[in-house]
Amino acid sequence: MKRFLGKSICHGAVFGKIFFLHAADSVPDENTEPCVAENPCRELERYEQAKAEAGLQLQELQKKTAQKVGQKEASIFEAQALLLEDGAFNECIRQKIMEEQKPAAYAVKMAGDVFGSRFSQMKDEYIQARAADIRDIVRLLLSVLTGRKTMRKLCGPVIVAAEELLPGETVQLDSEKVLALITSRGSVNSHTAILARTMGIPTVTGIPVKPEWDGHLAAVDGNSGTMILDPDEKTLEEMKGRQRQEMAGKNLLQQLKDQENVTLDGKTIPVCANIKSLEDIETVLDHGGSGIGLFRSEFLFLGRKEPPSEEEQFQIYKEAAEKMDGKKVVIRTLDLGADKTPGYMKTEPENNPAMGCRGIRVCLQQPELFRAQLRAIYRASVFGNIAILYPMITSLEEMNEICRITENIRKELTDDGLPWKQMEQGIMIETPAAAVISDLLAREVDFFSIGTNDLTQYTLAMDRDNGKLDRFFDPHHPAVLRLIAQTVENGHREGCRVSICGELGADLELTETFLQMGIDELSVAPGMILPLRKQIRSSRTTAKGRKPVDQSENFTG
Ligand code: PEP
Ligand code: MG
Repeated sequence: MKRFLGKSICHGAVFGKIFFLHAADSVPDENTEPCVAENPCRELERYEQAKAEAGLQLQELQKKTAQKVGQKEASIFEAQALLLEDGAFNECIRQKIMEEQKPAAYAVKMAGDVFGSRFSQMKDEYIQARAADIRDIVRLLLSVLTGRKTMRKLCGPVIVAAEELLPGETVQLDSEKVLALITSRGSVNSHTAILARTMGIPTVTGIPVKPEWDGHLAAVDGNSGTMILDPDEKTLEEMKGRQRQEMAGKNLLQQLKDQENVTLDGKTIPVCANIKSLEDIETVLDHGGSGIGLFRSEFLFLGRKEPPSEEEQFQIYKEAAEKMDGKKVVIRTLDLGADKTPGYMKTEPENNPAMGCRGIRVCLQQPELFRAQLRAIYRASVFGNIAILYPMITSLEEMNEICRITENIRKELTDDGLPWKQMEQGIMIETPAAAVISDLLAREVDFFSIGTNDLTQYTLAMDRDNGKLDRFFDPHHPAVLRLIAQTVENGHREGCRVSICGELGADLELTETFLQMGIDELSVAPGMILPLRKQIRSSRTTAKGRKPVDQSENFTG
């Protein structure tokens, strides 16, 4: 038995078998396995066998996708099967094996790098898009050649261990099959961490996971950030006791399901939920959420080979609105870029991706993506209570440009005879620029939603994805709290409602502070709705019976 202490990302105590998830395009470790082929003919034979197996897997995928999703989506795998047979690609691999004496896995990886970058530099958009297909084929061939476990082989329930998980990989995990996540690298404030909390999967990072742990029993305590490898009977009994306690706590909280979010002094504060897909809505309803305060729509665009069409998005937004049955659904328009960059997106390498082409900047630069999404949201608007939220805003000019585009979309839909209705428009306040000019921005929209994750990142000039900075990354920093208070005040002066949808909204230590600032609404991971309701019901909106006052100067750290 061995105990490891890491950092807690999402609470919960579980035990089960470890499934070691290799990075999708990893080759064997050069330090432990030779990267020169002793018998090139044998390696070429291994490659041919792997290619045949990969071809069969693609056929199978094509069949399943055609049944489950549709013919158009299935044709992607047909195109990949053709690429797998591509003469130049295969000749490149053959040369690497026979002439450069590389083992098959290395040859595949190297040929993939050559063809991937060659395709992505082409002017023709169709050929550019084939770069993502090449990467996919390489992953498939490598998983066959190395016998390593990738996402495709995950069947649970298991504890998934990985060096690092990207948001695009996490979003593909089936939460039914995953008991817990343990990773070596990661940060508490990253999108991967937020996804784990949204999905309610106990998660610990900072654990030096090893491939040889695959199949071993482990116990994970997401509360303390502990992972125990090969736990003994006594530890397992302790873990079962903790699970019973957790269950009892959950049952107690469940009694609050139909209660109101009302403070001790009688103010009702809607508690909404942050979701990434339709799957999360069941938990939101089960916990009596007041609505969806943040639908992170970009996750519909990750973990796939091409963006969802306008029609596909329309069906999703319509279903969300219908399922919420009149309760509000705030759809945030695409916040792609930085760590959320799908393979098919045309991007230039950037030195500072978090400060680069992200959020609304991507949408304004790639209007075809933005327009398809806006059309889908407007078309879905008639099926419920939808509002639109724009991410990463920094200026009035951006808002003016958005207004021109939405006006155009509304006109277009009317001309096409498609119904739509007016929706509330909102801005994410997640850059210091937006917070500082919130008095001006408030005149343009109906509501603000404060994104404390990015607001902290940009105010403190600290990368939220860098786990090494976790101890400095302080969302309670007086600069962040002052910007929040200032935003509430400026918003209210112009009749604009203000909510918090960043992770800080679920920080129970700050609930009363936010209420006393005058926050109108909070939006949190579905699993935090009930704990937050409990906290609101024991909080006051005024300190010692006094009215809320200008608090922006009050936070001195
Ligand atoms: C935020 O920045 O606080 C936010 C809610 O957006 P995201 O975490 O998706 O960047
Ligand atoms: Mg953000």
